[in-house]
Amino acid sequence: MKNLVIFGAPGSGKGTQSDILVAKYGFDHISTGDVLRAEIKAGTELGNTAKGYIDNGQLIPDSLMVDILAATYDALPKTKGVIFDGFPRTIPQAEALKAMLAERGTAVHAMLELNVPDEMLMERLINRGKTSGRADDNEETIAKRLGVYHSQTSPLIEWYEKEGIRNSVQGYGSLEEINAKLCAVIDAL
Ligand code: AMP
Repeated sequence: MKNLVIFGAPGSGKGTQSDILVAKYGFDHISTGDVLRAEIKAGTELGNTAKGYIDNGQLIPDSLMVDILAATYDALPKTKGVIFDGFPRTIPQAEALKAMLAERGTAVHAMLELNVPDEMLMERLINRGKTSGRADDNEETIAKRLGVYHSQTSPLIEWYEKEGIRNSVQGYGSLEEINAKLCAVIDAL
């Protein structure tokens, strides 16, 4: 059973690569963005709270996010492993994930970082916005999300480096090339 964090800026390809890894290895996949969007669609109280933050390009507060993550994780069958996509996004979230998994007798086995330059991220997200129907895929909100990534999320690169489980992969080129690099890391675990 492997716990993998797929990490990178908005638009770095975390969701796309997660889908390929899920198909190949049969992992379970937790995308916190997808969980929140489903809550918004269902019109729940949590969804209403989350919508204000998401539409504004801000992060949902850590305490709320950590509870959502634990509930989602505990509901999974977890046979082959779990890919965490979009979580953690702050150092307190990474610490909470570590503690939560330790309580359950396990740990994060690898952090897989998709490295993509900002100009490329902006272009990818603007293009995605043409078809994604996501309210946060517009130029103004994308710029805010990239700012939030650099200030609040990118310090996790150093954090996972210190944990000794950071694996950085070039996140552009063909999907197959990128995926092969991720698989090489996973297969060596
Ligand atoms: P994503 O689909 O991963 O790009 O997430 C979309 C939005 O959901 C983000 O811009 C945040 O507003 C919110 N979100 C998703 N995951 C988290 C998280 N781990 N912590 C805080 N906010 C999150």
